[in-house]
Amino acid sequence: MKNRITDMPSEEFKRTGNELIEWIDFYLATVEKYRVVPDVKPGDIKKGLPDSMPEKGESFDKIFADFQERILPGITHWQHPNFMAYFNSTCTAPGIFGELISGALNANGMLWKSSPAISELERVTVNWFRDAVGLHKDFWGIIYDTASISTMHAIANAKEKIRGYAIREKGLVGSGVPPLRLYSSEFAHSSVEKGALTLGLGLEGTHKIGTDEKFQMIPSELEKAIQEDINSGYKPFCVVATVGTTSVTSIDPVKEITAICKKYDLWLHIDAAHAGVIAMIPGYEYILDSVDKADSIVINPHKWGFVPMDCSLFFTKQPDLLKKAFSIVPEYLKTKEDSEVENLMDYGVQLGRRFRSLKLWFVLRYYGKEGYIEIYKEHLRLGKLFEKLVLKDSRFELMAPVTLSTICFRGKPIGMSEEELNAFNESMISSINDSGKLFLSHTKLNGKYVVRLVISGIRTEENHVLNAWEIIKNNYELSLT
Ligand SMILES: *Cc1c(COP(=O)(O)O)cnc(C)c1O
Repeated sequence: MKNRITDMPSEEFKRTGNELIEWIDFYLATVEKYRVVPDVKPGDIKKGLPDSMPEKGESFDKIFADFQERILPGITHWQHPNFMAYFNSTCTAPGIFGELISGALNANGMLWKSSPAISELERVTVNWFRDAVGLHKDFWGIIYDTASISTMHAIANAKEKIRGYAIREKGLVGSGVPPLRLYSSEFAHSSVEKGALTLGLGLEGTHKIGTDEKFQMIPSELEKAIQEDINSGYKPFCVVATVGTTSVTSIDPVKEITAICKKYDLWLHIDAAHAGVIAMIPGYEYILDSVDKADSIVINPHKWGFVPMDCSLFFTKQPDLLKKAFSIVPEYLKTKEDSEVENLMDYGVQLGRRFRSLKLWFVLRYYGKEGYIEIYKEHLRLGKLFEKLVLKDSRFELMAPVTLSTICFRGKPIGMSEEELNAFNESMISSINDSGKLFLSHTKLNGKYVVRLVISGIRTEENHVLNAWEIIKNNYELSLT
């Protein structure tokens, strides 16, 4: 074959494209037939692939056949209805189409000028989402890839608010600012610490605040820590409260925390990556109620919003400070529209930006707010249903209040010590996950090994939840023997 020097010919593109759409349709329709977690050992997939790229181009048919034969067997099926581990991310067809078109356009939204519709659709969809979850119109938003990156930008936004030191110009050390302190609960996501690490705060720059029996931050302990830090010469500047913690979906008392932040002039960032979407449901507005007084918030449509990875929304009340924290405009990126437009590159680390708002726009329009609400209500109903199953069975124990649809529980065979219970539940989860029928994850609460089951997948229905319970009970018995 002659070397290729152009893109795929139109006929081949159409034929392959149609086949791929057929394949995706079949995959999604039959995803339940796969093991949720693949049966592979580290290195298995790599072993089946050549060490170097091919010298000559290959046919796409062959490439795709290899995908099916060599890659797919190592995939964990996040779209599987029995994927109930971590916080699920499932996506829908309109979102897949969004990715496809965004790939086809391959336009870069770094500047307004570099692709005007990207900047403007981002503004529109982000505002739609803000209004749908009932956030105040003072919030200005932007799309980043993940909540971790959103929170890192929140901390940078907060840092920029510190007055009296030229941190942007001289850096943390050169500016002479006392060591900074940031606060979050012991159940905050690890991304808070990663953000602090990235920005040079050091691990000691984040102070973990204790939680109560419902795994919510204790405001009085927060205030105590702030006072102690001030007395010891530190400079408190930011609090991260979580609405929907990763371990148990607990909700920090945002109202009380807001008052403390006000008193000490601290930035309040809310991590609502998973749970924020639920504020769309009438009766659940309380989830984000007091959040209006916060300075920034992150919510991930790629988690419980059925938009493909990656799509994280960051909202801030002070985009001017965010811009101040990041904006560097070299000559070659100056445009004559600069004074009248938003150039999204000014609001973060990255220059190039994918057209993420397209998939968000597609999915928000395809389902509409009512569609979302209906799906969420069903997930919450299934969460309650599973909670009841656990409560009714004396072999199991509920380990945390069920706020939304994350259920933390454990098997509790009679006569075992805490240590034995930990080992028992660890082995029960392993045997469940190894079976390939269901995927669960765990957490530790007060030293106790706890099984987490999360219902937030678009394909998860009542029969899957009932079936999951059967699988769990079977593996409980298996692990006893
Ligand atoms: C999942 C999660 C994150 C991290 O999300 P990424 O988008 O994967 O970075 C942060 N905080 C909370 C509360 C989460 O549930």
